Amino acid sequence: MDSLPEKFLKRMQERLGESYPAFLASYENPPVKGLRVNTLKLSREAFSALAPAEFCLGDEIGESGFYTEGEKLGAHPYHFMGLFYMQEPSAMTVGDLLENCGPRVLDLCAAPGGKTTHIAQKMGGEGILIANEIDYARAKILSENVERMGIKNCAVVSADPETLARKFPAYFDLILVDAPCSGEGMFKKEKSAIPEWSEENVKMCAARQKGILDCAARMLRTGGQIVYSTCTFAEEEDEWQIDGFLAAHPDFSRLMQRKLYPHEFKGEGHFAAFLEKSPAPADPRLKPFHIQKNAAAKRAFAAFCADFFGGFVPEGDIHTLADGRMYLVPEGMPDLTGAHLLRVGVALGEWDGKNFKPAHALAMAFGEKAKKKIPLTMEEAKRYLRGETLARDAENGWTVLVLDGFPLGLGKAVGGTVKNHYPKPLRLRD
Ligand code: SAM
Repeated sequence: MDSLPEKFLKRMQERLGESYPAFLASYENPPVKGLRVNTLKLSREAFSALAPAEFCLGDEIGESGFYTEGEKLGAHPYHFMGLFYMQEPSAMTVGDLLENCGPRVLDLCAAPGGKTTHIAQKMGGEGILIANEIDYARAKILSENVERMGIKNCAVVSADPETLARKFPAYFDLILVDAPCSGEGMFKKEKSAIPEWSEENVKMCAARQKGILDCAARMLRTGGQIVYSTCTFAEEEDEWQIDGFLAAHPDFSRLMQRKLYPHEFKGEGHFAAFLEKSPAPADPRLKPFHIQKNAAAKRAFAAFCADFFGGFVPEGDIHTLADGRMYLVPEGMPDLTGAHLLRVGVALGEWDGKNFKPAHALAMAFGEKAKKKIPLTMEEAKRYLRGETLARDAENGWTVLVLDGFPLGLGKAVGGTVKNHYPKPLRLRD
């Protein structure tokens, strides 16, 4: 373990007193790893039965997780298929504690998407989830994770909290603020957090968190909840942050507050506070999501569905952008103009005025319902994820490639080969 900042250790000693030696000793152990099964696709039991030895699954965590000692699981085809998400065990407990997820949920600091994808599991496809990440490059990773997990009721945007607060006054039922923090609980996992730590940085993080929380308060409807979390131990960013918030917002009360330390819980450490805004009359409703509807594009999609799904047509509002991209938009999605939208609902595909070309997201969200499916072996799945064309006699046309019954992506069968349509930026690299 790299040496930890002296001032940090002194603060921890003052904070923890007698239990400080146990805290310090926890740094002798390797970082604790967890994975969360995507219960939108399969149960924890089904995953455990499927997982090969390399996953080395250990004890269960919360509602849908496992401790794991597996290496490089992010490169396994099951990861690309969205069957699980690698998540630090104490971070996983926040999603597990959520009770009333919806119908309107905002994840304000969402990338890379651990908690977004967990909330989506809890929502079970109902309501709307807006996942925001201020950093556009990180928002793209978040968007890929939402797609991989087959989430249908989410929009991914990249805006600063102030922009969103002006757009959504008293709008959301639940807001998660998983705040950018000094990362004291990340020292083992991300060594770069160690030299970045200083008391000045703790203060800077606390000031930034206060601004984000104030924006969240404006966006919360009366009777709604804010869940605030960090992966740091500093009181300025945790307990004192919440005390200050409650003093400045007398219409809020604390429902629950909890801190996990690595010497008390098998994880790297986390802080969470659940806050409620006192109930009052109903909030104003915003106008619905507003983009062009296109009857010809919808007919082309219906024809595609007849062949591809054998009759099944995904339910919902279909919207077509001016450039031909089509989306299945969850009912009640608000107007997101100005919030730098990356993804909304399920990307169905593109219509060029003549032909409809399905999107990868369609396979990830609805692929199990496809009529034309080609089962792959693990070896073939890896080749497919690398972008290779596969030799296979199959009925010509669009098809879903599946591994162990779960969709991996799309291919197009033509005369004994299956052309690879796995998105280039997502491909597996050795
Ligand atoms: N919730 C995420 C998850 O579970 O995967 C982790 C979020 S991480 C702790 C905090 C995020 O806040 C980072 O992605 C960071 O880019 C973002 N962030 C940084 N500055 C911000 C700001 N001023 N307002 C909102 N978000 C910010």
